[in-house]
Amino acid sequence: MRVAEVDRPGAPIEISDRPVPEPADGQVRVAVEACGVCHSDVFAKEGNWPGIEYPRVPGHEVAGRIDAVGADVSGWAVGDRVGVGWHGEHCFECEPCRRGEFIDCEHEAVTGIDTDGGYAEYLTAPTHALARIPDELDTVEAAPLLCAGVSTFNALRKSDARPGDIAAVQGLGGLGHLGVQFAAAAGLETVAISRGTEKRDLAFDLGADHYVDATATDPADALQEVGGAAVILSTAPSSEAIESVLGGLGIDGQLYPLGVPDEPIGVEIPTLITNQRSIHGHSSGTARDSQDTLEFAAHQSITPTVETFSLEDAATAYDRMMDGDVTGRAVLVP
Ligand code: ZN
Repeated sequence: MRVAEVDRPGAPIEISDRPVPEPADGQVRVAVEACGVCHSDVFAKEGNWPGIEYPRVPGHEVAGRIDAVGADVSGWAVGDRVGVGWHGEHCFECEPCRRGEFIDCEHEAVTGIDTDGGYAEYLTAPTHALARIPDELDTVEAAPLLCAGVSTFNALRKSDARPGDIAAVQGLGGLGHLGVQFAAAAGLETVAISRGTEKRDLAFDLGADHYVDATATDPADALQEVGGAAVILSTAPSSEAIESVLGGLGIDGQLYPLGVPDEPIGVEIPTLITNQRSIHGHSSGTARDSQDTLEFAAHQSITPTVETFSLEDAATAYDRMMDGDVTGRAVLVP
């Protein structure tokens, strides 16, 4: 099979041939039909992830079809349409797993970082990493929902925001353009925040009720003007961007930083004390959270905007994503 892989930290993404993997006990093999290109693929590309081994195939927004089933697998069959997201494996035995917090598993394997991911024609995954793709969803459109989608959807539903509350989504890229649609569909008064006016029309098309151009207006002031946000999903991997919206939280408002900047964020404690604001750590979701996201998207007719690339163009797709030069999500179609 063809894969797009990284041979060592910082090396270019290159096409190579590998044997098609066989599913182990409890695993299935997925014939990949689409894989989204996420900013967190940077961990596989650059190697700044504890214990990562090379060569490594990135990709954790994988959608496809089961084409082989290992021993001891029930409930899943050849031909089933499935997705595999960031959370690729948990052990069921550590303390977080015993408490049902699989996402916090001490032995978690992240797809495309700890195991080979979806920049490939095939991958193997344990059945507990599989989300079932509803019939209504196109495979290419399902792919971005498996990280960008579940990250935003799950953060929104874990927050205390309720219908009618104000939700702000900062950044209108891969995560943000889904976050706005989820927030609007969930009955939240939705504020989209981006830089410049280029994405203004897009924001309203996605269902935003307000648009804030962060180059023209202080986004925290703009949020306070509409009443203060109950939840802010910050999707830009920029500390400065995250710091700029914190003051826009209303009473008991919660900030979920979903983009991962390289550098720490600076927080003035009085800003947190005022309105009893908080910042919440949040990591995408489990396979069932992904499936909930797919089902909600199918039910609400929410689709990502995608730009497709062939597997051979994986390096180009990655570079374009890193440059912020993709409308919506880049998706590899092998
Ligand atoms: Zn991701």
